[in-house]
Amino acid sequence: MTYQNYSLKQLQQVDAAHHLHPFTDHKELREAGSRIITRAEGPYIFDSEGNEILDAMAGLWCVNVGYGREELARAAYHQMKELPYYNSFFKCSTPTPVLLAKRLAELAPPSVNQVFFGSSGSEANDTALRLVRHFWALEGKPQKNRIISRKNAYHGSTVAGTSLGGMEPMHQQLGGAVPNIVHVMMPYAYELALPGESDHEFGLRAAKAVEDAILEAGPENVAAFIGEPIMGAGGVKIPPMSYWPEIERICRKYDVLLMLDEVITGYGRTGEWFAAQSFGITPDTITTAKALTSGYQPLSALLVGDRIATTLTEKGGEFYHGYTYSGHPVACAVALANLDIIEKEGLVERVKNDTGPYFAQALRERIADHPLVGEVRSFGLMGAIEIVRDKATKERFEGDGRAAVVVRDHAIANGLMLRATGDTMILSPPLIWTRETIDLACERIGKALDLAHKDLF
Ligand code: PLP
Repeated sequence: MTYQNYSLKQLQQVDAAHHLHPFTDHKELREAGSRIITRAEGPYIFDSEGNEILDAMAGLWCVNVGYGREELARAAYHQMKELPYYNSFFKCSTPTPVLLAKRLAELAPPSVNQVFFGSSGSEANDTALRLVRHFWALEGKPQKNRIISRKNAYHGSTVAGTSLGGMEPMHQQLGGAVPNIVHVMMPYAYELALPGESDHEFGLRAAKAVEDAILEAGPENVAAFIGEPIMGAGGVKIPPMSYWPEIERICRKYDVLLMLDEVITGYGRTGEWFAAQSFGITPDTITTAKALTSGYQPLSALLVGDRIATTLTEKGGEFYHGYTYSGHPVACAVALANLDIIEKEGLVERVKNDTGPYFAQALRERIADHPLVGEVRSFGLMGAIEIVRDKATKERFEGDGRAAVVVRDHAIANGLMLRATGDTMILSPPLIWTRETIDLACERIGKALDLAHKDLF
């Protein structure tokens, strides 16, 4: 029996009875029923009732080339017929991860040349954590194992990902984090800058929090700093341009490795292949996933810099770590075809020179003045809208995030899928969006804000 034989109500009942969802209150889900998305094309998703919804989240920050790409389906089909699976353990390899690793090394900053594959961003961060600690152990400094991260960071949902991340409610449910990970302030000027402090100064102060944490632990005990170049799930928090170069300087000064989590920003979202290039820094590891296959297959790639890779190779000894699906041939074939599309269609350049600046201008000119909006911000095709009760004082609505949910629900009802996190609306559209798609999105956001305003006052 195919799903077409089920009514929406039946599918919702079966869903509630058998399917546990990620990051979901299952009591609420049972009462509300899930929205069932049944197909998608280009920038649009369609639900079971035939509603067409413009997807301003690219799925979950991942469908960068849009939906319905024949080339990706064909790449998966051919690879499945030829070799659906073989592992890369025990000195084996298959062609597609080899070619993909070479391709990624060519796209990454010059000193990043090795790749470790997994199936998700969380897995890749688990690998990254294990790898940097292993690196320092190989260097004869096993005590140099503390990791510095930021409050409200998101690095995934496995035990390692949750421990690296700085989300308090997740920590509370963890029942014991991976030891020796500390969290410092995030570079979020809208709420944390002091009166009269410039963006530049705030960026340096936020970076100084990392230096303070290194000095408090003693540099001889600190393995690495990890951060998302732009905090995504935490609310698209864009650091001042002074922040990352200062972080890099501090890491180099104290011989602390720099780990970037580019699971969201990788593969074009910021207008460069990697946000490391947007911020002019050279990390020791770059965690990537999502847009590597545009979400058509689960695949992550931890890009590893020469310093770590050289030690790993020259010192030798087995790195006791890996996944059944590390370097999965089908996922890697899809990734190669996806990178072909991004290159052929010039999507990275388009974000940098056309849609990114147009998106920023559209948010500024058409959304920022709305009475519910405290701030708009964007970088490339990643944006946020802060929802406030009072623009001047930045006072929020009571109910912690309730107002943003009202806006989100109106947006979806008016044909725009976006996300609410806390009091922040988030946008992360496919890179195939054009100026016209941005216009349409702004029109629908404006309508949602007007309707929410009526509900909230
Ligand atoms: N790191 C960042 C920055 C993310 O945004 C995410 C997911 O949203 C992850 C890691 C975890 O990736 P996954 O959900 O594929 O495990």
